[in-house]
Amino acid sequence: MERGGDPKSQTKPEPAVGATITQIEPTEAALTTPLSLVKGIGPRTAESLAELGLNNVGKLIAHLPMRHERHEAETTIGELKADRIVSARGEITATRLVRGRAPRFEAVLIDDTGRLDLTWFNQTYLAKKIKPGMHLRVQGTAKKYGPGLQMVNATFETIDPEREQLDARGARLRPVYPASQAISSKQIEKAIAVVLARAVALIEDHLSAEFCRARNMPTLAEAYRLFHAPEIEGDAVAARRRLAYDELLMLQLGVQMKRAHLRRSLSAPALRHTPAINRHIRERFSFTLTVPQDKVVAEIARDLASGTPTNRLLQGDVGSGKTIVALYAMLMAIASEHQAALMAPTEILAEQHFRTISDVLAGSKVRLALLTGSTPEAERSETLARLADGSLDLIIGTHALLTSSVVFHSLAVAVIDEQHRFGVHQRSMLRSKGARASNGGRELTPHVLVMTATPIPRTLAITLFGDLDISTITGLPPGRKPVATRVVSDLQRPVVYDFLRARVEQGQQGYVVVPAIDGGPAEVGEAGDIGDIAHDRVQSRPPPDARLAPIANVRSLMKELEDGPLAGKRLAALHGRLKRATRETIMEKFRAGLIDVLVATTVIEVGVDVANATVMVVEHADRFGLAQLHQLRGRIGRGEKESACVLIADAKTEGGQQRLEVMATVSDGFVLAEKDFEIRGFGELFGTRQSGLPPFKVVDLARDRDLLLLAKRDASAWIERSPTLAGAGEATLRRRLMKAHGESLGLADVG
Ligand code: ADP
Ligand code: MG
Repeated sequence: MERGGDPKSQTKPEPAVGATITQIEPTEAALTTPLSLVKGIGPRTAESLAELGLNNVGKLIAHLPMRHERHEAETTIGELKADRIVSARGEITATRLVRGRAPRFEAVLIDDTGRLDLTWFNQTYLAKKIKPGMHLRVQGTAKKYGPGLQMVNATFETIDPEREQLDARGARLRPVYPASQAISSKQIEKAIAVVLARAVALIEDHLSAEFCRARNMPTLAEAYRLFHAPEIEGDAVAARRRLAYDELLMLQLGVQMKRAHLRRSLSAPALRHTPAINRHIRERFSFTLTVPQDKVVAEIARDLASGTPTNRLLQGDVGSGKTIVALYAMLMAIASEHQAALMAPTEILAEQHFRTISDVLAGSKVRLALLTGSTPEAERSETLARLADGSLDLIIGTHALLTSSVVFHSLAVAVIDEQHRFGVHQRSMLRSKGARASNGGRELTPHVLVMTATPIPRTLAITLFGDLDISTITGLPPGRKPVATRVVSDLQRPVVYDFLRARVEQGQQGYVVVPAIDGGPAEVGEAGDIGDIAHDRVQSRPPPDARLAPIANVRSLMKELEDGPLAGKRLAALHGRLKRATRETIMEKFRAGLIDVLVATTVIEVGVDVANATVMVVEHADRFGLAQLHQLRGRIGRGEKESACVLIADAKTEGGQQRLEVMATVSDGFVLAEKDFEIRGFGELFGTRQSGLPPFKVVDLARDRDLLLLAKRDASAWIERSPTLAGAGEATLRRRLMKAHGESLGLADVG
């Protein structure tokens, strides 16, 4: 039913269903039959549908409702009950437009049994749409009004009492379709009703009836029928479940088929993993690995020794100690006389990794170098030459590693940090760096290990990286103190900065994070050293009214703090627009304790590791995603001292503080990532550009987790049984899979 305010509610006069000779009965309609040839669908409707891309029966059937609306059982006006949602139909006998303080449009609806007064406030334009003599169906809450009943702001649709047979009088669900100016949801519904029964009979299922039965799902034909024309809520739910499952299954089958293919056709160097190598590597570490780290190291070492290319996602909360695990893998490559690479998303992080790893490897024979966009030309050429001739063992860098001038002598292990910042594409580019020699007809590629410090919700990990094995480091290394987190309003800023000042006076350090560098808008593309790689600097879109408020930025805040609460303290600004040398100097000074407080953008979000920094203040915290705040918070609590994180949020913005309260109680990054995902959804967290995956039509990842797991399990079992889907009875499935994902997943060469 249409809302009063819907401009589409104007029903277009439909020319009488002409009986031209070419028109065919819906009974004969094949799925490819053009809609213009279907009797019962007028030429103007067909034209409007074609504008939506729906030009044949099959496409029309595949045009799915966005949702379903409940329509109450119609009663006669005389039977209408007050104070509940009811529905009735009748004829408009009088209308009136009332202007003034409470402008409204009034109409009287009658049938043989009584009279209903209709009033729409602030919708005076309805005077042009609703005229005496018209027949309407209305739905809304009826209220006692004098002797009779009144309905305010009813939803309504115009009906043709002669032709109207489609709608039964019982309560029912009505599909709501994506529509256009030219054609309303209701008209689409009618067109679908013309072809539905016959069309679904032609739908071939790519899954067997018993496969569906075992999963308690309707057949494909039944799912389409029920989704378009459900009788009860349960019909729509069951239908949606099947259609969503199909989308997930197709994707999972594609991903797993590709993976099985890679396993068959590619090989990677089988790295040695002897007790002596294990001991040598561990001797380098100044601490003992935790039990979860050991478990993950064992999983990775097994992969690397196998000769089958590793494709593994290493996830673990901020500070869980992933770097050392990655280093273990890289040292295995070097112990077998191959090379290893570590790619980070920002220069700051690459520099940090280079420092940490140089320290761990000090005094060893490992030859390592750093390569980023800021590497001076002379140094760069030398590094490239040494990579190519094998006189460098380990390279650490940014996406600069992906450029075509980077050629490896023998790359065996490629590690990508912060996977979510790189797309699938970058992963395969790095992989191709090692694809050189051929080994018994199989291409040789490096083992790929991707790490993420923004834990990816499990659902998303499976969807985006279904072709990856997943290792998880649970918990944190010993001795970590949990960070106390508080959410406060703007009004408490003086108290917050007094606190920070007191900590500084005790010899501790802190960070203050703001969303922007200078007065401009939030700098989404900041940290400009990463070129084309999409960055979610300030991920969340600010609520519209917050845009008007002045935003603290690095410059203004530096000044405010220097002149006020932190006067006399040593402050420095850190952001992605600084030159590398400047940035390095600042970080060096901060590490050495020569700077008390860093006022920074989110460039410090990942990697920065200074144990004496115990306070983090985030300004405009409501502009950041939870996962991102968790990353920021991960910069503190790295030493023995109690750390505190203060999130300053504008109490006025909608949900501004509320949403953040989660941060105060939840310290587990995985839980936060899931929450963030629920709140902000798939699209915002991972654009399709990054994921490289087509968006779903029916699936809603936040709600279809169980279905995703089921689809994943089913797909693995299926591909194991039938790796190329070439079996008897799989032709339809395979054809549809290729159509959906053949191109995006590069399945052309499979089987
Ligand atoms: P992340 O997983 O966030 O990348 P890092 O690898 O940077 O975490 O590790 C965080 C800190 O914990 C580093 O200072 C690292 O040296 C330290 N660390 C890692 N593993 C251990 C361990 N088993 N015992 C003690 N400290 C560890
Ligand atoms: Mg890390």
